[in-house]
Amino acid sequence: MSKLQPARGTRDIYGDEARGMRAVVDTFQRVAGSYGFEELATPIFEFTEVYKRPLGETSDIVSKEMYSFESSARESGDKEAEQLTLRPEFTAGVCRAFISNGMQQHLPCRFMSWGPAFRRERPQKGRYRQFHQINAELLGQDAPEADVDIIAMAWRLLRELGLGDKVVLHLNTLGDKESRAAYRNALVDYFGAHRDQLSEDSLRRLESNPLRILDSKDDADKALVAGAPLMSDCMNEDSKAFFEAVKTGLETIGVPYRHDERLVRGMDYYCHTAFEFITTELGAQGTVLAGGRYDGLVEQLGGPPTPGIGWAGGIERLAMLSGAGTSTLRPVIIMPMGDVAMQKAFEVAETLRAANHTVLTDRSGNLKKRLNRANKSNARFAVIIGDNEVTEGVAALKDLDTGTQNDVKFEQLVTIISSATGETS
Ligand code: ATP
Ligand code: MG
Repeated sequence: MSKLQPARGTRDIYGDEARGMRAVVDTFQRVAGSYGFEELATPIFEFTEVYKRPLGETSDIVSKEMYSFESSARESGDKEAEQLTLRPEFTAGVCRAFISNGMQQHLPCRFMSWGPAFRRERPQKGRYRQFHQINAELLGQDAPEADVDIIAMAWRLLRELGLGDKVVLHLNTLGDKESRAAYRNALVDYFGAHRDQLSEDSLRRLESNPLRILDSKDDADKALVAGAPLMSDCMNEDSKAFFEAVKTGLETIGVPYRHDERLVRGMDYYCHTAFEFITTELGAQGTVLAGGRYDGLVEQLGGPPTPGIGWAGGIERLAMLSGAGTSTLRPVIIMPMGDVAMQKAFEVAETLRAANHTVLTDRSGNLKKRLNRANKSNARFAVIIGDNEVTEGVAALKDLDTGTQNDVKFEQLVTIISSATGETS
């Protein structure tokens, strides 16, 4: 039997990578919190309908990437079978939750979420079938200043992750409904005249959503796209003014951006602002964080008309780019050297943990071996307890940075270790 492996495109996450990903989420929670965002955790699976309509039948996600399944009525004890889908992205589920919980009474709403998402894609570095996102949504504000706020938040996060000079903000507008319709017509004319050169996927998109051809990853399509009409030629005055206001706001707070006329987002529900933070350091997987405005989405899901804007960041890509998280743990190692000491060690360890120290107990081997292991593990102190010392009420405290060793009364261990490590309890 070959070695047991996880399913294709899924991975076990541990060690430096787990620490790096944790750091991304921790920083996100702190930064988003400073913008007034609150946690919303939606289920990892939803009714398939939640994703199908909003994202669009011809989107990559709906047409080929979703993990959908039927939960049979008989086996689950439900009345009817349910069509369910593992979360491929957060926005649609967040809007569903907004509607389900009647949150329109409390606008504006600011939600932060994080966790796994699932897409059946061809796995490669930085592209997985189970991956993880941080996600922010702002509902109930239709003014361009909201777009500035949410991009500013992304930019602050990226800088705090040390990525300020590794990513470039690509910014575009998709305009309002009217402008998009005009642009759609221009694209149908243009691509319609080059039908024979379009990929099969894009030929289908030509009927349903020609804008999406601009997002195609097919090389022949890409060549055609280079000569396609520009959104900016089809924008009405309102849409132009909206975009100008977004750009002005970004300039005011000093967020550098590049107007990228070819940037469209892969999903149906976007309007006005679309943006991506892109790096050149991750090959083809260069988009680390992306988002945009989706004013029609809540309504499309059956809720009251509610404007929205948000973004999602790929945690794996952000962690990869900001460098692995090395362990900063400096444990205290307890070394009981006899049967009586073995019991005393439990007590000493618990007392130190209660004072916020990381504590491990090494119970095997001679003292030399244990001290060697302690040094290799980046431990800060060793607390050596012999049976005799228990009777005398002292332990030997060895400072592993300086090598000095002193007898210390048990009652004083916490105070001495805490003052040396700066830990307050
Ligand atoms: P791409 O163009 O790379 O396929 P996307 O447009 O499909 O990205 P979004 O739906 O905008 O991506 O998701 C937001 C972010 O989530 C992406 O910018 C990326 O960092 C991350 N992401 C998306 N798909 C994957 C995946 N399969 N594996 C790892 N990260 C992903
Ligand atoms: Mg994709």
